[in-house]
Amino acid sequence: MNIGFPQLESLVVRRGLCTGCGSCVGICPSAALSMSRVYGEPMPVCTGVCSSCGLCSRICPGNDVPLLELERHCFGRNRKPALADLGVYRNSYNGYARDDFIRKKGASGGVVTALLVHALETGIIDCAIVAGFNTEKPWLTEAKIAASREEIVDAAQSKYAVVPVNMRIREAVKRGYRRIALVGLPCHIHAVRKMQYYGIPRDISVKIKLTIGLFCASQFYFEGTRHILVEWCGIDKMEEIARLEYRGGDWPGHFVVQLRNGETVTVDRHRYVYHMLMPHYKRDRCEMCIDWSSELADIAVGDYWAPQRTGPDYYGTSALLVRSSAGEEVVKSAVEEKVVYLEDLDPDKLCSSVGFEMKKHGAAYRLAQRQQFGWPTPNYHMQVDYTPFFRDFHMAPEKKES
Ligand code: SF4
Ligand code: SF4
Ligand code: SF4
Repeated sequence: MNIGFPQLESLVVRRGLCTGCGSCVGICPSAALSMSRVYGEPMPVCTGVCSSCGLCSRICPGNDVPLLELERHCFGRNRKPALADLGVYRNSYNGYARDDFIRKKGASGGVVTALLVHALETGIIDCAIVAGFNTEKPWLTEAKIAASREEIVDAAQSKYAVVPVNMRIREAVKRGYRRIALVGLPCHIHAVRKMQYYGIPRDISVKIKLTIGLFCASQFYFEGTRHILVEWCGIDKMEEIARLEYRGGDWPGHFVVQLRNGETVTVDRHRYVYHMLMPHYKRDRCEMCIDWSSELADIAVGDYWAPQRTGPDYYGTSALLVRSSAGEEVVKSAVEEKVVYLEDLDPDKLCSSVGFEMKKHGAAYRLAQRQQFGWPTPNYHMQVDYTPFFRDFHMAPEKKES
């Protein structure tokens, strides 16, 4: 049996199971792979000579994620069974970056950016692999290696199109970085944990010291962005775009396009997410993904969109689940140094999020449906209980300043 790239291609890519994480490209010891764009979506292709080492198939999270096995390896134990399934965590918080510039630059509270800058400036990490935009074509997302405060801040905010973040891992190691942080969606973190679990490639996997995972309800085809740009913003030549933000302006952040002629076009978040991306352009692989809260990350961060969290002059906050000792060390130090403000958060509140329902119930049910018909599905090696349960959507927000 061929264990080279053709195997990965036939088992994952051609069956619609590729998440676009970029790991195969990022770890290939022969540098045989690159990311091309097919129908506008990043897709791995073989452009060099594959030595059939089999590493790419082994670490790929597209078709196989032994979630509980990886969890035990990362955290030394498994989650407690519960309907409100958020994985293993030590603490849960809600908070924001104390630096006002970073807080407003972030999608919701700026905590990821603040933690990364803090970790870099205190020597906990020496670089961070993050999601940014292409400099020449600023409407296209791109993975970046950020090794300065400016580069980290520049990559702040969510991107609602695939970013193959992990494709930069080997490059970061080649540049001499030894304490690498990686910020990604749950599927990016699954791949990193598979590398660490299997110890492959060893020269890379041991150098990833910190993973910050973002809550992820779904990722979207770039075609959705293109439709917003053309149909709602009146832009049919992408070259007119100087800058694009998916969470620009005040919280909750809107679709903001700056044109080269100086004009700015804004589309309200509710309209573009709930009337374009979410109903029409969700990636098919994401429909089967059961991890919302980045269950394998050292620190999981996100907006949980509880209805009571809206209101005038509200900047937004980040919710955090701190899962590992590595994550705890960074968070503790950032609180002590007054880099971030955090208050305890009742973790059950996270279950009021639309993302929780979409993943832990909707996707889990959809996965079972597809399996029943023998359609290609990822194997997470676990059953998810999608039984409905009552959630109190009317809990009063807790807002207090120290
Ligand atoms: S990782 Fe190994 S099997 Fe995969 S493309 Fe590279 S050389 Fe081929
Ligand atoms: S490693 Fe990631 S990018 Fe490569 S095939 Fe698997 S899911 Fe796709
Ligand atoms: S929904 Fe899952 S597969 Fe899709 S981008 Fe998010 S974490 Fe990756």
